[in-house]
Amino acid sequence: MSNRTKALDALLNRTISKVERAGEKVSDYYGSNVFGKEAMQAFLMKHTFEKLTDIIEKDGKMDESIANEVAAGMKNWAMTKGVTHYTHWFQPLTGSTAEKHDAFFKLNGDKAVEHFSGSALAQQEPDASSFPNGGIRNTFEARGYTAWDPNSPAFIFDGLAGKTLCIPTIFVSYTGESLDYKAPLLKSLHALEDAGLPVCRLFERNINRLHTTLGIEQEYFLIDSALFKARPDLVMAGRTVFGHAPARGQQLSDHYFGSISDRVLNFMVDVEQEAHKLGIPLTTRHNEVAPSQFECAPMFARINLACDQNQLLMDLMDKIAKKHNFAILFHEKPFKGVNGSGKHNNWSLSTDTGINLLSPGKTPKNNLMFLTFFINTIKAFFDNADMIRAAIASAGNDHRLGANEAPPAIMSVFLGEQLNRILNEIENSDFVNNDDDVKNLMKHGIKSLPEILLDNTDRNRTSPFAFTGNKFELRAVGSAANSAFVMTVLNTIVASQLRKFMADVEQLIGDTGNKETAILTVLQGYIKASRAVRFEGNGYSQEWADEAKRRKLPNVRNTPEALKALVTQRAVKLFREEKVFTSSEINARYMVALDNYALKIQIEGRIMAELATAYIVPAAVKYQNVLINNLKGQKELGIDASIYEPQLALVNEISGHIAGAKSLADALSYAIDGLEGGEHGGGNQVESYNTALGYCNDVKAAYFDALRHHVDSLETLIDDASWPLPKYREMLFM
Ligand code: ADP
Ligand code: MG
Repeated sequence: MSNRTKALDALLNRTISKVERAGEKVSDYYGSNVFGKEAMQAFLMKHTFEKLTDIIEKDGKMDESIANEVAAGMKNWAMTKGVTHYTHWFQPLTGSTAEKHDAFFKLNGDKAVEHFSGSALAQQEPDASSFPNGGIRNTFEARGYTAWDPNSPAFIFDGLAGKTLCIPTIFVSYTGESLDYKAPLLKSLHALEDAGLPVCRLFERNINRLHTTLGIEQEYFLIDSALFKARPDLVMAGRTVFGHAPARGQQLSDHYFGSISDRVLNFMVDVEQEAHKLGIPLTTRHNEVAPSQFECAPMFARINLACDQNQLLMDLMDKIAKKHNFAILFHEKPFKGVNGSGKHNNWSLSTDTGINLLSPGKTPKNNLMFLTFFINTIKAFFDNADMIRAAIASAGNDHRLGANEAPPAIMSVFLGEQLNRILNEIENSDFVNNDDDVKNLMKHGIKSLPEILLDNTDRNRTSPFAFTGNKFELRAVGSAANSAFVMTVLNTIVASQLRKFMADVEQLIGDTGNKETAILTVLQGYIKASRAVRFEGNGYSQEWADEAKRRKLPNVRNTPEALKALVTQRAVKLFREEKVFTSSEINARYMVALDNYALKIQIEGRIMAELATAYIVPAAVKYQNVLINNLKGQKELGIDASIYEPQLALVNEISGHIAGAKSLADALSYAIDGLEGGEHGGGNQVESYNTALGYCNDVKAAYFDALRHHVDSLETLIDDASWPLPKYREMLFM
């Protein structure tokens, strides 16, 4: 029996596992696995609790005595929940999360006593040599440090083999360079706050903190685990490298918002309960466009926590999927011919006084503050769209961007009709020479903003960066990505832009003496300068690609080329000035991303060659032999040749595809052997870039589609019972 047959058998015999309710109401168990406010209050002394809260609120530093007291409280809390181990939980550049578990006890003589020290809470020293670093660390200096980020609460991960207390940390090298996603994100938040507060205070003097908020919508596929395991390409590369489109794809669009099957719903309920225990406020769940595709979204949170929770959620979903005999696919394009998956990152800015800076307020003054942040964001996006494109670039996302299902690779901004009108009005006013223009605008256009924005129907699903009433939605992020990187870039470019704005306005106030006039005049200049990045039409159309070309907007289709934008002089300077990445840190990231790309394509290429040679060709030959024997028999019987002509043609057709598949598989392997590469941390930039580009052009573009054509054709020619791999219809519709 082939693995496919076994898998289909297993699928037919599946029973639906029942999910136990965690409690009557969500509020009964929400946050029960997080060391949040409630647990802190119960397990810390009052002064420790207050000190810790203060540190969290003000991004303060933790001294050793407080760390010891917090650690003891955390340990006592965790032990009441049956936790035996703790780990620093961090996000290295591998893209997944990392942990190193240590037990919660020490030996006192030969007696074990439960123990967890403040220093173990605050810092750990995992051997970092096997994490990608892009050349930052010499191999002889392999030490890396993890340090607690108190803004992200410790949580309990409930695994099959026991419960672990996880402490979210940053991960830095011996010399202090970031080796992870969190440390730069935190730095970008400081930059944005530092740059944004003076701008806020142009309008409201009492604002003291500026926070960035994020809500991440997450798309994914669910496949039965037996079918998943029978597809080596899914197991090794996360996507199917072969597979003929099923008779019914997503043409009917009947899956989107359709009713959710019991088996999937059980999985979702299980995920939600566990997520809620972890304080992840999941609120939304529904089917997505493609068959077997789904989406979930939490309520938004501060960006640092939202990014952590998204990573944690992905881990959690993976674990719970297994429990329900599903494999969850976060790959951006697991199946050809049906939509891929993304993340939609809803981003905004808020103040400690409760104002959402991307939501128009009640007074004209507040609305001018809104317009200021709004227009500065657009200007930043226009000036640095290439950096955003680079930050979302990956081998997986290359299948989506520009493939008529996700936003195009052209970075543009959607505003909606009303805001476009206001921006046009500002653009066409004459603030400097005509005082009335300022008054009129403040009185009419700007004052009426909140009402007009209530119309929330003005949406554009094809735009990579769409304003949706009170936030920007970055829709081009890959579903498997760690959101932190692109959000770090967005925060950084907006920070830099806000500093320019402040300088421009201060100079004009000096010149004209009028604050509102100065602000509007500067904004007017930005509107004019960034006009090209605004696009309201269909982002999937060829007309837009043509129009974008006329506007000189970049349209970079592949990852290696897109990544270059991280290390241009402008980018390096910007990162350095905002103190988010040193030039060696951003160069290292560039190297890691290039190497990652090369490795991904290398794995895909190898699995393609292996499947073609060891699975597909043998199955095709076997079936071809059946046909040949049959033909021989017919000939022997003296049957007229014209009668078995179609069979003969089939044999020929199969021969052609076998020959094509085999020779292309060999050529593909040969091309990969010629490139090799993809070793993290070695090489130099030019070499890494050339290797990555080689994988893009001489491996992927040269062979993937051509080889796939032969294999997918064979799938339609060969006896179904002999086909070795689960078919699309089986994976997507059963
Ligand atoms: P959709 O885009 O599908 O209509 P919603 O409007 O409900 O979905 O919002 C999507 C996400 O945006 C949710 O996670 C939501 O919490 C988040 N969101 C809403 N307001 C903000 C905000 N001010 N800042 C960041 N995210 C927000
Ligand atoms: Mg959305």
